[in-house]
Amino acid sequence: IIRFERVNKWYGRDFHVLRDIELEIRRGERVVVCGPSGSGKSTLIRCINALEPFQEGRLLVDGVALGAEGSAQDKAGERAVQQVRRRVGMVFQQFNLFPHLSVLDNLTLGPRHVAGLPRPEAEAQALAQLERVHIAEQAHKFPLQLSGGQQQRVAIARALCLAPQILLFDEPTSALDPEMVQEVLDVMTELAGQGITMVCVTHEMDFARSVADRIVFMDQGQLVEEAAPAAFFSRPESARAQQFLAKLH
Ligand code: ATP
Ligand code: MG
Repeated sequence: IIRFERVNKWYGRDFHVLRDIELEIRRGERVVVCGPSGSGKSTLIRCINALEPFQEGRLLVDGVALGAEGSAQDKAGERAVQQVRRRVGMVFQQFNLFPHLSVLDNLTLGPRHVAGLPRPEAEAQALAQLERVHIAEQAHKFPLQLSGGQQQRVAIARALCLAPQILLFDEPTSALDPEMVQEVLDVMTELAGQGITMVCVTHEMDFARSVADRIVFMDQGQLVEEAAPAAFFSRPESARAQQFLAKLH
């Protein structure tokens, strides 16, 4: 459902942030991306929903081709970006909810204005997604009246409201107090069991071990290693992955 074909990206002229990325993710697969800080994990997944342009290579997302920068400026490129964003939901470390809107309004904003859904339908759908993350009773509160874990679950429900084929997570639990991490991981684990394609950047290695079909390890802009969790954690092949894992303990 996702295929990187020799994707290269630079920030500015000199900083080569993604180097010859080749990666294929199958429909329904759950992939965890890990690696040291600054290795390019966020940049990699931001390419998948066209939040970041890249300069070389090609990226296929659910049948839509994203080309290198330049091609995105023509009409077809623009249309591809819109199509990709409709298929891909994203959950950020900072929940990025609108503080002045109720939980329900945060969830219905996209469906009403992007997908053109009438309010009653958008609200019914939003409530169903809130139930999916076990938080329907908070629908009429404002984000800042909720705990961090609840806010992040709202953010997940918001992503689900656009019925994405692919869900991206960028360190969804890193900004949370420790006691709230598990409730968010539990929701992610439930979603993982429901067949949606998931790509998660996370340092939660227990989650990775139990939920991921595959671990992708990045270092210095390169995709250094990919393996099933059992193999990755017990016998990482590259010295860089060995060092990374050693530091986690
Ligand atoms: P972390 O674990 O800290 O989140 P990461 O693996 O997600 O790191 P990225 O955020 O993808 O790493 O960043 C990769 C590198 O690119 C870093 O060195 C970062 O400083 C640099 N970088 C990120 N965004 C930009 C930008 N907009 N302009 C210039 N450099 C950037
Ligand atoms: Mg990051």
